[in-house]
Amino acid sequence: MTIHFAAVPNKTILVAGGAGFVGSHLCDTLLEQGHRVICVDNFQTGSIRNVMPLRNHPNFELIEADICQPLSVDEPLDQIYNLACPASPPQYQADPVHTMLTSVLGTTNLLRLAQRNEAAFLQASTSEVYGDPEQHPQQEDYWGHVNCTGPRACYDEGKRAAEALCFDMLRAGRVDARVVRIFNTYGPRMSPDDGRIVSNLIVQALRNDALTIYGTGDQTRSFCYVADLVDGLIKLMNVDPNPGVPVNIGNPGEFTINELAEMVLSMITTSSEIVHKPLPVDDPQRRRPDISRAKALLGWQPQIPLAEGLARTIPSFASALREKAKAPARPTRSDATMGVEVGLGH
Ligand code: NAD
Ligand code: UDP
Repeated sequence: MTIHFAAVPNKTILVAGGAGFVGSHLCDTLLEQGHRVICVDNFQTGSIRNVMPLRNHPNFELIEADICQPLSVDEPLDQIYNLACPASPPQYQADPVHTMLTSVLGTTNLLRLAQRNEAAFLQASTSEVYGDPEQHPQQEDYWGHVNCTGPRACYDEGKRAAEALCFDMLRAGRVDARVVRIFNTYGPRMSPDDGRIVSNLIVQALRNDALTIYGTGDQTRSFCYVADLVDGLIKLMNVDPNPGVPVNIGNPGEFTINELAEMVLSMITTSSEIVHKPLPVDDPQRRRPDISRAKALLGWQPQIPLAEGLARTIPSFASALREKAKAPARPTRSDATMGVEVGLGH
């Protein structure tokens, strides 16, 4: 079967959440492909460091804004990627109401912007829409097993509502909306203190701190390297016609958290030992994507196995920690923007 991708030279593309971990890699790739990129971010969990190298790029503009507020951009847009939302459980639970509003109100605002511009829209959804899944591996037609009143609900249910908004706008013929369900992704530029498993284990090992394993460590996750994810996002945005269904993007290699910790320990010289801490409420027990749909519709599959991805990621954390040790202590928000004025473009 032949898969068609729309010809995409020189588009103007808005990336909401573009100063975050995944978003900044997406901005890099889109600029390399010759597009103009407008990055919108409120720096809640992202950092100016992630996009600092792009600031003088002639095709890059940075706008500091919260997508919960209506956004107007004074030039026509061809595509909008919505990656704006904290993704780490401690971070999205820190202000759960804002997390929910980011997914519901923020996605509505960006869908309206897409409608006004007749721009294609890609929503970053998540494997969390499957909750603590009873189906394994997870296929896109599985409706999930989500606790709608627990501490993860602000994220899981917010993302589910955002998916519903996208498919309503698509069915109504108002927006060419596409939905990707992202499974655990890792790589350089994850914030060292964001609390997710890959960043925690690497940082703890590099600092000779105890490696924290929540619960028994027998729970599983499937880890995708960020370059593979970015490739999948761009393919789904540009595949023609719009498949009109959500698409899992993730690496089907499944590892227990204990196996991941052993792998990290085997790759970093450290005196760290493992300690167990309580399992967070509603922590999913198993997670692994069925990627048959991504293979069939996009010709996509991950290229980078976990050991190789970790080997690429560890040095970036080592240098981030060295930089952090040199820099004077700053409060979180000014650390995010490093005192740099944003919002002016060029
Ligand atoms: P991240 O926290 O590094 O990036 C999120 C970015 O969005 C940050 O720059 C943050 O400042 C910005 N942001 C948050 N709320 C905002 C708001 N209201 N207005 C404007 N900007 C806002 O997380 P990430 O890992 O890069 O995740 C990116 C997207 O992918 C998120 O939508 C997340 O839900 C989704 N996702 C990621 C993973 C993963 O494993 N990385 C898995 C599933 C889904
Ligand atoms: N986890 C852990 N130690 C940590 C951080 C996370 O054992 O320091 C566990 C967590 O309980 C979960 C898995 O690792 O079972 C993945 O957690 P993460 O926060 O990275 O992502 P998510 O739970 O959203 O998949």
